[in-house]
Amino acid sequence: MTTDFTQTRALFDLPQGMIYLDGNSLGPLPSAAAARVAATVTQEWGQLLITAWNKAGWMDKPMAVGNRIARLIGAEPDSVAMGDTLSIKVYQALASALEMNPGRKVILSDSGNFPSDLYMAQGLCRTLGAGYELRVVEPEAVLEAIDESIAVTMITEVDYRTGRKHDMAAITARAHEKGALTIWDLAHSAGAFPVELAKCGADFACGCTYKYLNSGPGGPAFIYVAPRHQDRARPALSGWQGHDAPFAFDLDYRPARGAERMRVGTPPILQLAALEASLDIWDRVDMVALRAASLALTDRFIAGVEATCPTLTLATPRDPASRGSQVSFRHPEGYAIMQALIARGVIGDFRAPDILRFGFTPLFIGAEEVDRAVAILAEVMAKSLWDTPAYRTRAKVT
Ligand SMILES: *Cc1c(COP(=O)(O)O)cnc(C)c1O
Repeated sequence: MTTDFTQTRALFDLPQGMIYLDGNSLGPLPSAAAARVAATVTQEWGQLLITAWNKAGWMDKPMAVGNRIARLIGAEPDSVAMGDTLSIKVYQALASALEMNPGRKVILSDSGNFPSDLYMAQGLCRTLGAGYELRVVEPEAVLEAIDESIAVTMITEVDYRTGRKHDMAAITARAHEKGALTIWDLAHSAGAFPVELAKCGADFACGCTYKYLNSGPGGPAFIYVAPRHQDRARPALSGWQGHDAPFAFDLDYRPARGAERMRVGTPPILQLAALEASLDIWDRVDMVALRAASLALTDRFIAGVEATCPTLTLATPRDPASRGSQVSFRHPEGYAIMQALIARGVIGDFRAPDILRFGFTPLFIGAEEVDRAVAILAEVMAKSLWDTPAYRTRAKVT
């Protein structure tokens, strides 16, 4: 198991000189990924063609790869299925959970959730009609808001803007005490720190793989269904790949056994190949050591920026136990400041209205990069290098 992260940087292709603090949004390219995808294209698709579904194990990939993700998120074997996008997986988990808790119609979420999760819940409520409701409270109020009216909590463990981390064990316990089910969105957790789904008793979880898990743009999402629910959870998106016998071509849907029923359609084999190249790295990562290294980096960045940039306000919890693997600062000119940083090779991103966001991944970021990023940010702030019209023009993706 890898506990020393000084060697792992060499496993990624990163442009010379760039300090990449955005692996929480799009993970960098694993060096082995291009060859792995090329081999899948030329040797499997090119030579095996349709027979690759059997010969290259394409059909089994969504569950086989899910089992490799399972270790990172503390999930039981065969409880994680790959496919589709995170938004779709949120919808699937919500639809199943609501059906499993009849008599209750409220989905509870918080205002720190990523909007797509809220939009999916709104769309599902509209489809279900008759009294279904999404209730959104402040992140600090989630625990209190779980009462006997809640059918399911839909909580993203780490806030995409501030990096604030919810207490999964406490919220799950409270939800169960009140008769509610839980859905955990692990978009900013999987690959960021050890997650303990089984230990916490989580019911459903989902997440994406193109952030910390480096599967590349559009990489497949994952969904977790607790073993005790796997044969009760009925898929609302009942596609043929989640059928018990897809090649029987029955006219009626009959869900597959286990979490495999959450598959929908044909899996994205090329993206899964890229993800497998990344998981060759992740399979060896000691998650406890990763967390320790991540907290050392985020502590160092917070201390460095606070010592040199008095006009930036920390938006991330100071308590290490209450944050993920990112650090955010607020500034009214946050967008322009981030553009000035990007122009100088420090890549973070901006989230409206005023958040400068920096992700830290020990696999390819070390203390030296943190110190250089702090020095560049300090110079940008001290000399107001951001204060130019070019840096205020907003691009489509921020
Ligand atoms: C990144 C992210 C998404 C993105 O969903 P996609 O369907 O993959 O585009 C959704 N939810 C959360 C919490 C995220 O952080």
